[in-house]
Amino acid sequence: MKTTILLIEDEAAIRQMLIFALEAEGFHVSEASTAEKAWSLLVQCEKEQLDYPELILLDWMLPGASGLDFSKRLKRHTATAKIPVIMLTARGEEDDRVRGLESGADDYVVKPFSPRELIARIKAVLRRRSGESVEEILQIGVIKMDLLNHQVLVKGEEVKLGPTEYKLLKFFLQNKNRVFTRAQLLDSVWGHQVVLEERTVDVHIRRLRKALAKVDAESQIQTVRGAGYRLSQ
Ligand code: CA
Repeated sequence: MKTTILLIEDEAAIRQMLIFALEAEGFHVSEASTAEKAWSLLVQCEKEQLDYPELILLDWMLPGASGLDFSKRLKRHTATAKIPVIMLTARGEEDDRVRGLESGADDYVVKPFSPRELIARIKAVLRRRSGESVEEILQIGVIKMDLLNHQVLVKGEEVKLGPTEYKLLKFFLQNKNRVFTRAQLLDSVWGHQVVLEERTVDVHIRRLRKALAKVDAESQIQTVRGAGYRLSQ
């Protein structure tokens, strides 16, 4: 199967040139001229359960939401956070590059660049990604999650969780010690197309705590007053 690249670039000429070069290399390209359009493509992937693109080429100067905004948005959603991003920046925008890499972009190329140079970077990023070992066990303190067997252990004892509680716990384990607001949890765990009350989060946190407390009374999911929730070690 072909590797899909999502290309986000507002200049039609550059888009055409890149599509031509990428397709010649055997990639499948989906394209968008704005961040908003690109986002709806990703939402469509989620809705129709299609595969997400394997890599995103992101122009930094876009009309409407900028490349930076888009990159941050990608990283906020679990489904899209892991897609590697290569930024396409204009010469002299050093600040943008720094902010881009801080926002989670994997690499950048400076315009004007040759398609050959870009393709070499793409291949390097994809190679790096495939070499990364997929985490199979997540652990904080006495809580251990085996992703392959879909099993949660507390102090070695199995704990049965509902699907939402499982997803919540997984998210916390992947983001140790970080505080999340209810809105962020709804967005990341339930997905952005779902409209739910923030109280829903409290209900599932309560269930999760209760399930964990069966083995270990000391809950590691802390309420941070005025902010949200955190799983700490
Ligand atoms: Ca542009």
